[in-house]
This record gives sequence, structure tokens and C-alpha cells, in this order.
Amino acid sequence: MILDKFSLKGKTAVVTGANTGLGQGMCVALSQAGAAVAGVARRSCEQTRLMIEENGGEFLEIIADLSSIEPIDRIVNEAVEKFGSVDILVNNAGIIIREDAIDYAEESWDKVIMTNQKAVFFLCQAFARQYIKQGSGGKIVNVASMLSYQGGIRVPSYTASKSAVLGLTRALANEWASYGINVNAIAPGYMATNNTNQLRSDEQRSNEILERIPAGRWGTPEDMMGAVVFLCSEASSYVNGFTVAVDGGWLAR
Ligand code: NAD
Repeated sequence: MILDKFSLKGKTAVVTGANTGLGQGMCVALSQAGAAVAGVARRSCEQTRLMIEENGGEFLEIIADLSSIEPIDRIVNEAVEKFGSVDILVNNAGIIIREDAIDYAEESWDKVIMTNQKAVFFLCQAFARQYIKQGSGGKIVNVASMLSYQGGIRVPSYTASKSAVLGLTRALANEWASYGINVNAIAPGYMATNNTNQLRSDEQRSNEILERIPAGRWGTPEDMMGAVVFLCSEASSYVNGFTVAVDGGWLAR
């Protein structure tokens, strides 16, 4: 039956940036759909753990800093050691540094590209290697952005990295679809999280954005839940290399 195909019972998922915001929402969604979840974060994921365990879900915390690719093999190993195998990777961790392009510092450029682009690629590679070794396919969901499609203002490295995420999602889907590995992405619109604190505290920018969102509100972590479960489940087994916008209509405008 069709709803059974959305079930993640018996699956194991690794979500980066699991302690807050969209990553936390997606951890809860995957757990509610039946998956055991490993959350990767620089610091404690205690709140996410509580949200999952109070509903009877299973949660593993993996502390790792994705400002280098050094912890990636350990992330795979810790998840496999705990759960026996891995089936789902959600590449959610990401940062944004706002500076005028004319003054943009190399250090800011490198930091953003490292976490949002290089770590994302090497996590995809490490999980795909593990999926191929396990022989039963797997799911990868990358978190893109409206700035995978648009230029943005004062965020050149973020736009470059998120545009790369959309392209990489297509490229990797092509190479790995034959192994039963689905690589897709979700492009959130303007969501009320730490990532947009600065934007939302600027009344003029905040109103300009809100007025342009057809749904008439900022998105929330809950808004990500349906899309992530779909893309991590058997229901999307013939969806490859696509980026789904969860944006209240922003791109349609
Ligand atoms: P957030 O700032 O609340 O969350 C970012 C997450 O990434 C946090 O868990 C943080 O700890 C983690 N992270 C950052 N650097 C890390 C590092 N070096 N190592 C490990 N973890 C690290 O914001 P969010 O909105 O929840 O962002 C989640 C993702 O969604 C990001 O990729 C962001 O770019 C993307 N996104 C957000 C919006 C939005 O409007 N909020 C829109 C489009 C895309």
C-alpha cells in the first residue's frame, strides 16, 4: 500500500546540523517515520534527543565539526557501529556569512565553501561508498537554498556553495542511480531559524521578504518534514537528481 512506502521502519539516518533549526525538524520527521537517527553536531544535540526519545525513537549523537573533512570517516563508522548499517544521509549543516561582495574576506569565503560545499561532497562520497559496500542502495538528501536559483545580496560565498549543491546533486545522482542510490535535494525558502536571524531583525528586509512570499509567512522546521520523509523513502525511488523547493511559493512568483 502506498503509505507503507513512506515508512522508514528499520532504516537508519544520519543528519548533519542536528541540534537546531531545519536539521532538528528533519531528525524528528525521520524518527516519526520509523528511522533510527544519528545527529551530527559540533555541540550537544540534547534537545533533539529529548524530542525523539519522548516519542520512543532511537537517537545517537555524533559530535563533529564539519569545518574540515577530517571527521567524515568517523561519522560513517560511528553510525555503522551503532546501527549495523546506514540508509539515509541528510546533508543539512550549513553556514552563511554576510558581507558586501566588494569587501568579501577570503577567510569568510573559505569557511562557507568548506562547510556548505566541500564537506557536503565528501559526506556524499563516504556514504555512497558505504551504500555500495552494503549492496542495498541508499538515500542522500542535500539542503540547497533559494540561492541555488537566485543571486542573493551580500552572500556571494553562500550563493556559490548552494548553487554548487544543486549541481552536485544532479551530478552524483547520475553516477550513483545505477547502484540504487537516490541523490536529491530540498531547497528551503525563507525559514524562521538562526540562519535568518539577521535578516528577520532588519524590519525593512524582513517586510520585503514576507511581502514576496505567496504563502504569506516564513517557513518553519515542520515545513521540511513531508519533503524529507518522501525523499528518504521508497516512495521516491524513481526520483533522481531533483531539488524540491519548500518555499511557500517564493520561486513560483
Ligand atoms: P541554523 O543556523 O539554525 O542551523 C545550521 C546547522 O548547521 C546547525 O545545526 C549548526 O550547528 C550546523 N553547522 C554549521 N556549521 C557546522 C560545522 N562546522 N560543523 C557541524 N555542524 C555545523 O540554520 P538552518 O536554517 O536550520 O540551516 C540548516 C540548513 O538549511 C543550512 O544548510 C542552511 O544553509 C539551509 N537553509 C536555510 C534557510 C533558512 O531560511 N533558514 C534557507 C535555505 C537553506
